[in-house]
Amino acid sequence: MDSELRERVERAARTHALLNAVKYDSDADVGAVMGPLMGEHPEFREHSDEIPGVVAGVVSEVNDLSADERRARLEALAPEELEELEAEDEEDEHALPDLPNVDDGVVMRAAPNPNGPWHLGHARMPAVIGTYKERYDGRFICRFDDTDPETKRPDLDAYDAILDAIEYLGFEPDEVLRASDRLETYYDHARELIDYGGAYTCSCPQGEFSDLKNSGEACPHREKDAETTREEFEAMVDGDYSAGEMVLRVRTDITHKNPALRDWVAFRMIDRPHPRPEAEDYRCWPMLDFQSGVDDHLTGVTHIIRGIDLQDSAKRQRFVYDYFDWEYPEVVHWGHVQVDEYDVKLSTSTIKELIDAGELDGWDDPRAPTIASLRRRGIRGEAIVDAMIELGTSTSNVELSMSAVYSTNRDLIDDDADRYFFVRDGVELPVSGGPDAGHPPVHPEHEERGRRDVPVDDAVLVEPADVPDEGERVWLKGFGCVRHADGELAYVGDDIDAVREEGVPVVHWAPAERGVSVRLRTMDGDVTGVAEPGFADTAVDEMVQFERVGFARVDAHDDAESVAYFAHE
Ligand SMILES: [Zn+2]
Repeated sequence: MDSELRERVERAARTHALLNAVKYDSDADVGAVMGPLMGEHPEFREHSDEIPGVVAGVVSEVNDLSADERRARLEALAPEELEELEAEDEEDEHALPDLPNVDDGVVMRAAPNPNGPWHLGHARMPAVIGTYKERYDGRFICRFDDTDPETKRPDLDAYDAILDAIEYLGFEPDEVLRASDRLETYYDHARELIDYGGAYTCSCPQGEFSDLKNSGEACPHREKDAETTREEFEAMVDGDYSAGEMVLRVRTDITHKNPALRDWVAFRMIDRPHPRPEAEDYRCWPMLDFQSGVDDHLTGVTHIIRGIDLQDSAKRQRFVYDYFDWEYPEVVHWGHVQVDEYDVKLSTSTIKELIDAGELDGWDDPRAPTIASLRRRGIRGEAIVDAMIELGTSTSNVELSMSAVYSTNRDLIDDDADRYFFVRDGVELPVSGGPDAGHPPVHPEHEERGRRDVPVDDAVLVEPADVPDEGERVWLKGFGCVRHADGELAYVGDDIDAVREEGVPVVHWAPAERGVSVRLRTMDGDVTGVAEPGFADTAVDEMVQFERVGFARVDAHDDAESVAYFAHE
């Protein structure tokens, strides 16, 4: 190698060593430099015996530099590649964009309506808020916006179900509030708003008011004096009116170009008592825009995330904020999240109807696109959160891919999941010859965990598709090679070359007599079959892998059968 060539090798090796060291924030490695170096410079290959020595010198020189020096050298040597590297880093760490205006801290809230346990789409809010909380050392408020006892009637079980779901996803709210505990606060703010001239009571029938409003005309009540409004509002609070007889409206701009913002309703009467005993006596209920607007301010919320379809909310609430001279929080609007893998729509009311009609067994039915269902199937909350974060917070609609959730979950559980045989619709075949039992590994990557003991007895079950044709062979995993002859499986031997060289298929099996009956609950309905005897010793909640079927969570064992929930392949 002449000195000119040596110099070129050194220069190229230096760039790669610096890239390698900066990228992983660690020392560079000769092996990691050789690959790209030889790939990009085919002309170096004829010197391949001398080059590793040159590279080693360069690598050791780079490893003597500090992190800052490495970055500075790389910037001088290959500025574009450094830039590319930094852009990649940014993307990896921040699937969620930074929030604006965070200097005074970050307080965010999830504001679920507890009209049912959560479907999968609901996981996005705690996933994103929880992640921002960690990034900014902020606060996470969970506020139940449960001020509609009529059309979005709260389900008393949903409050705890939602808090459980947040915990399962890996987050803990710093504060939990129920809006139905805070009626007096909303009344006080309504009174103040009336004093500012910001609201009036109105007894117009809804249709009549709508007609006036749509043509930009005020109703006769708009100009009533504050004293009358005060009295009528107190009568509302006292429950003196029935539903539809009286509302309190925010005085906005009756000619506003967006009719949805014109003099909107802040409070209305609801005859049906709230299901919570603490709130059952109230009849005068705030509308969501008033309640959530007041609560966001009083609880110090700095950043709100809400659906792009709810842009009018902020505009309506700003009128109230202006009367009170409050500063409106930052708002991030995002698009809807969809999930396509399910037959059941991502909708609380639809799922509830199917459960009521007996078509789903409950919120944790594996066919239901709910958080409770994924949890019962053994999906870790972390896998859902990761997939949700990847979707970002853009205003376009996004689709949650269940395969992304499954792939993360597989990485999380695979190492701990012991292997078992589970045979669906098994065909019973006598076995002649060979050992008494098969001994497949407990886990293929952990030989130290030992081997299972699966008795063969006189006959085994194999899946219909795995039954070899007459005269053909299969390899019963952990047992050996058998040949199908005269209706039975005759032992041939345990030379693995049958599989490696001759392509004999490896199949899973279970003993016909001593297997465990298992019902595997899946997204497509229940599947029954027989597992190897050792499955009876698994613990409830344990994750297992049924070989060639997929991962499952052990749900229950009893004398008649065991139940497992299918997670994913
Ligand atoms: Zn009116």
